[in-house]
Amino acid sequence: MRVVVIGSGIVGSSAAYECAKAGASVVVLEGGRIAGGTSAVSFAWTNATTKRPRTYFDLNVAGMRAHLELKRDFGAAPWFTQTGSFDWRTAPESMDDYFENFRQMKEWGYGVEWIDKKLVAGMEPDIDVGAIGDCPISYYPEEGWVDPVLYSAWLLRAAKERWGAQVKVDARVTEIETEGGRVLAVRTADGERYGADAVVNCTGGWSSQRLGDAQGIPLSSTIGVLAFTPPVALTLRSQLHADDLDIRPDGAGRIMIHKVSVDLTFKTPQALSPAGDEATTLLEAASKVLPSLRSVGVEAIRTTVRPFPEDGYTCAGAMPDIAGHYMAVTHSGVTIAPQLGKVVADEVVRGNIHDEMETFRPERFFQANARRTPAAHA
Ligand SMILES: Cc1cc2nc3c(=O)[nH]c(=O)nc-3n(C[C@H](O)[C@H](O)[C@H](O)COP(=O)(O)OP(=O)(O)OC[C@H]3O[C@@H](n4cnc5c(N)ncnc54)[C@H](O)[C@@H]3O)c2cc1C
Repeated sequence: MRVVVIGSGIVGSSAAYECAKAGASVVVLEGGRIAGGTSAVSFAWTNATTKRPRTYFDLNVAGMRAHLELKRDFGAAPWFTQTGSFDWRTAPESMDDYFENFRQMKEWGYGVEWIDKKLVAGMEPDIDVGAIGDCPISYYPEEGWVDPVLYSAWLLRAAKERWGAQVKVDARVTEIETEGGRVLAVRTADGERYGADAVVNCTGGWSSQRLGDAQGIPLSSTIGVLAFTPPVALTLRSQLHADDLDIRPDGAGRIMIHKVSVDLTFKTPQALSPAGDEATTLLEAASKVLPSLRSVGVEAIRTTVRPFPEDGYTCAGAMPDIAGHYMAVTHSGVTIAPQLGKVVADEVVRGNIHDEMETFRPERFFQANARRTPAAHA
């Protein structure tokens, strides 16, 4: 079976790896550089906390497990760090949700514990625990983060070397060609044509685009902003989540900072200055928790699109327009991607349908009078 995967972000590389492993002849067509889209600018926290309803929580947990399986498959996973997360709240109005989430996660069997402030100070001496206030701290030992670009590089390399997959960069797809209502081929802007029995559309924040005969899906994407410090002499290993602030190490001593309230000030991705207001806001917020950041400044600040299908939930399955056209688009794609790759390979290559994915099918966007309840864009 010939499978063309469009897009080489963390979702496309997962789909390509699993389809090649399942025996398909795979071609990946990437319009830019490998994982150079949203996957290159992601906080990339593997987690299922606050994810609801249960089906979406389960999909995220399955993604976390699939990351561990991949690590086992490769023997080592230089792209994956699993050092756990601390989470606390200082805003009184968010306490009820915080405690309810802890209760719900416990009930669903997710790894979370209350942890003593002294223990936190011992584990992460760089944190000023005074900034935490009196709120109890929850600890999520199974959470981690991924370097999505490395992940994609390793999976695509394995797909090529183990199973002969082809990966083409600077190959922007302009058209999915059909015959008799079925996928026939994929055409790229450079005039190449690739015959296909199935096309897996993994174009993330670009998946609303029409590609010749093939329609896209409706999106409600938002913008994400990340700041990066220069290398700084901290020993921080864990992720820190405080109110809407997220902090984690980003390799070579750099610290990555994210804050939802800064994301919300943007409607489109744009070039920002490391000396600008957004960078200052992010650094100040992080410095309250990690005081030694105060003097280091921001080295880089980046924005990109967060790919959200219109109702906020994963969209995975056969598109209703053309036989052989399959969509795989999601937010929380870093968490979910390795599981989504397995689902794609089972459904597209092996013909085994995943019943647990029923609520995530693309049809929901194309049914007349469909009522869609938007998910919280967390
Ligand atoms: C600031 C921020 C924080 C985030 N935090 C988290 C988090 O903590 N945990 C988590 O799980 N998720 C997180 N996410 C979401 C996650 O990063 C995304 O869900 C994931 O990266 C999407 O991967 P993708 O492969 O679908 O898309 P992308 O990485 O964008 O890949 C799509 C690719 O398709 C290519 N493409 C598009 N159109 C064409 C075409 N016509 N022809 C050929 N190629 C094409 C693009 O060039 C691109 O490389 C975050 C996102 C942001 C922005």
